Amino acid sequence: MKNYFYLEPYVYYERGKKGLILVNLLDDKTLHYTDPDSLELFDRLIKSNFGTVSISKQEMNVPLIRMSVDNFMGDIVESETHPMQFQREINNVRGYNAYRRSVHYSRQNITSYISKCHILADMSHSDCKDFINLVTGGFSPNKVHSLNDTKLSFDTLIELISDIIEINPCIEVNISGIDTYTLKKIHIMFPNLKLHPILSYSTLEKDLELLVFLRESELSFSVLIDLDSVMSLKEYDLSDVTLLCKIKELVEEKKIITLSDLGVNLRIYPSLTPNNFEYITTFMSLTVEELIKLPHKYRTIKMNNLINSNFWGQIYLYPDLTFSYSLLNEKNCSWRDFKTTFEKDFLSGSFSWRMVRNFSQCRDCAFQRLCPSPSYIEINLRNNQQLDCLMDICLPSEEN
Ligand code: SF4
Repeated sequence: MKNYFYLEPYVYYERGKKGLILVNLLDDKTLHYTDPDSLELFDRLIKSNFGTVSISKQEMNVPLIRMSVDNFMGDIVESETHPMQFQREINNVRGYNAYRRSVHYSRQNITSYISKCHILADMSHSDCKDFINLVTGGFSPNKVHSLNDTKLSFDTLIELISDIIEINPCIEVNISGIDTYTLKKIHIMFPNLKLHPILSYSTLEKDLELLVFLRESELSFSVLIDLDSVMSLKEYDLSDVTLLCKIKELVEEKKIITLSDLGVNLRIYPSLTPNNFEYITTFMSLTVEELIKLPHKYRTIKMNNLINSNFWGQIYLYPDLTFSYSLLNEKNCSWRDFKTTFEKDFLSGSFSWRMVRNFSQCRDCAFQRLCPSPSYIEINLRNNQQLDCLMDICLPSEEN
């Protein structure tokens, strides 16, 4: 009789060049191995077409076996013949193949996959400019610049929102570049809409009525903070201003801000400027512990296998009534043909959401499918050789 080791079918694995992670998809428990014995044993297991590997008595103490058995993620069986373990789909179908497979399940109700829509209502407004700069890292395409003076009229905006709700009633509508009056009107006309204004700090500074409305309506909103210009507000003695000063203090202390810290539904995004480039990159670092503690790993892995979750299901609407799937797209499509364009792009996979963590270092890393999908800023930092890995931030050099 021989001993054979196998991994349970509910265990997801990812082997990098220097490490291995095992994720229990039932409870998110994650084990991380870097010792040569575990890696060598795992490689033998994966090469075996049986999903099981014969092990010696001494190998019972290899961390991969010891820890996975202790955590109900692996087991050992005695057998005279080589036993067989069935294959887990999540470990075998990845990348483009996973995408192609998922498409067949999604033919019905395709547009319900759009969960977020960003309306850029007035391209001359600083809120729109700051938002585009923030998400693209300042590398927005010419197409966006050519829309500089375009603005949606109130009636067109209302029509657009009605169209969007028809596509998916649960969609989150992020909106930038509107005044307080318009925002109030939309909130009254569409009380069930998940409306999420994105405002720059300077807009809130100038318009306290807007801030009061946001707090009273309990709308969730995002603030784009230009860290260079916040200090002056400290001179005012108003509770809403105090709130924003508090945000600034928390940002300066590099604390993660939770909603309960502030008592309002708020997300903040420090705007990316040439002056705070270095500072913002410090927010992007990750640790092994953070990735290992990530909840809902099954969903994360599945999503990252299928599609880049940062880009998945988002559309951007411009005042010239065109839309795109990404702010980095040069080509925008007509909103009037949205349904047919989207269906065609979805089924052929020809939209720019389909971006996996495909940087050279990531392809060899065990955390490839747990690390967040790359944001525009990360892509730009990598293209400029300013970042190698989220776990080891390389800051811009002096001359940059
Ligand atoms: S950024 Fe890439 S290389 Fe770094 S931990 Fe994430 S997946 Fe691995």
